[in-house]
Amino acid sequence: MIKLKGIAASGGVAIGKAYCIGREEFSIIKRKISHEEISTEIYRLEEALIETRRELTNLQKRISEELGFAHGKIFEAHLLVLEDRVLIEDIIQQIKNKKINVEYAFSQSIKKYTDTLLRLDDEYLRERVVDIEDISRRVLRKLFKQEAISLQDLKEKVIIVAHDLSPSQTASLPKDKVLGIVTDVGGRTSHTAIIARSLGIPAIVGLEVATKHIKSQDKIIVDGSEGVVLLGHIDKVLKEYQGKLSRYTKEAKIIHVPKILKTATLDNKEVTISANIELPEELPLVAEFGAEGVGLYRTEFIFLGRRDLPNEEEQYKAYVNVAKKIKPYSVIIRTIDIGGDKFLSQPQVPKEMSPFLGWRAIRFCLARPDIFKVQLRAILRASGEGNVKVMFPMISGIEELREAKKILEDCKKELKKEGQEFDETIAIGTMIEVPSAALTADVLAQESDFFSIGTNDLIQYSLAVDRANEKVAYLYEPAHPAVLRLVKSVIEDAHQHHIWVGMCGEMCGEALFASLLLGFGLDEFSMPPPRVSKIRELIKSLKFEEVKAIAEAAIKFSTSKEVEKYLQEELRRILKDDFERLVMV
Ligand code: PEP
Ligand code: MG
Repeated sequence: MIKLKGIAASGGVAIGKAYCIGREEFSIIKRKISHEEISTEIYRLEEALIETRRELTNLQKRISEELGFAHGKIFEAHLLVLEDRVLIEDIIQQIKNKKINVEYAFSQSIKKYTDTLLRLDDEYLRERVVDIEDISRRVLRKLFKQEAISLQDLKEKVIIVAHDLSPSQTASLPKDKVLGIVTDVGGRTSHTAIIARSLGIPAIVGLEVATKHIKSQDKIIVDGSEGVVLLGHIDKVLKEYQGKLSRYTKEAKIIHVPKILKTATLDNKEVTISANIELPEELPLVAEFGAEGVGLYRTEFIFLGRRDLPNEEEQYKAYVNVAKKIKPYSVIIRTIDIGGDKFLSQPQVPKEMSPFLGWRAIRFCLARPDIFKVQLRAILRASGEGNVKVMFPMISGIEELREAKKILEDCKKELKKEGQEFDETIAIGTMIEVPSAALTADVLAQESDFFSIGTNDLIQYSLAVDRANEKVAYLYEPAHPAVLRLVKSVIEDAHQHHIWVGMCGEMCGEALFASLLLGFGLDEFSMPPPRVSKIRELIKSLKFEEVKAIAEAAIKFSTSKEVEKYLQEELRRILKDDFERLVMV
């Protein structure tokens, strides 16, 4: 039995067949061929090249028509590879001289080609490797007579195994067919992990070698809580994991609550527990788990995985749908947070050296008011029919907030002129997820109606740890004293300026940290829907005055390990027999 250890991204157990997508889709075996087969293999190569060329030219034509000539030109590099005589000649010579099958000869020649490019001192040419790998997959698909992979056509329930999943791929996974997700790359707050948690799909990221060891059809076990994948001779442990799986399923059923409940501590301090959503499919979960509204609606998912931009009407329909269903509770709509690990294909956002520090979120929106205004108008219109709040991501200082508010004001004026209904006093929130915003929270609080602390980013920026990089995941510590000091001071600044403060980062959905945040005085906790019931039950079992004292003591420790150990000891003392169930599972 092989055991692979990765980062536990979404709890639960999955047992089933693997379905590998992406890089390791083709198992290319070297096969000796007879002299007579040489011409057949060369003919197969030519046929595959012609078909791929036809496919690409059609694609280029379509993209040029839809998006303009410049976009279509992207495929020129691909076409050039297909016409590269040196490459084609090399493949043919290998088939003839070594008497090997075309698939193997082709993959060997491509490897030689990419290895040479990777050794060059030319950034542009090195980057062409991605194009070549893309084209190589297309040709291999033709040789293997495979269609492009469409996950929508999955016939049975599977565990998805991939090197990486883009946010748009994750967002378009057929939920009823996906038992679990396993990826080579990513960290606990990469978007694959966030969506998997929201949908309650067990997931492990950052396994590094999953796609090397796991093949499609392999029967595997995924323990999303431990971050472990088991494969090979799993029969010995199958019973144990089937038991674990049924316990999870049972527990998931028990904690579903039919109606929205208030949350207060034993000494009557009320807090709000709301849910984070990114996809309309998650809406039923918000009610099912009893969240008091939506504390973060990540709107960028409407923009991803498509070639055009959603227009005002389309966006309005999406937002109003959520607003009406959530009413009388509120939905906090966050304006698009494109960039970082969420890329648009349109308008062509250039590849950047440090995307998390680059042209992202509010920076992108302020530079593209044409796109920003369409979204703000749609949000405002939705505010006329529900309880809608708007929130800006990645604010790094007061000037950005003022600029964003100014554009919102312009949109209000336009709508008023057009006679459209909207909430004139719509609440405006600032996301506190950049250290500079956290450190100037007192300034930002004076011009915001509320704060929402985005710890997924705040942690990565204050500790200088790429949140999607498994190699540095061990440094990503929510309980790092630096993070705790920032969070505590943001909460204090907000309260001093009489505004409420929530958190929509994953940290507040983790029991150990939720109790600490409660002690700091956080007003709203917004988390993936499946976490809501457990955190509510935990908060209802605690006394505010008691956790306040614990939080004050916790912030004095010098490492996150000490903080966590202390929190565990204190919570074990308070919760006694309920500790394991409420904090550790
Ligand atoms: C955050 O950064 O904590 C957050 C909620 O936003 P996102 O994860 O979408 O960047
Ligand atoms: Mg963020």
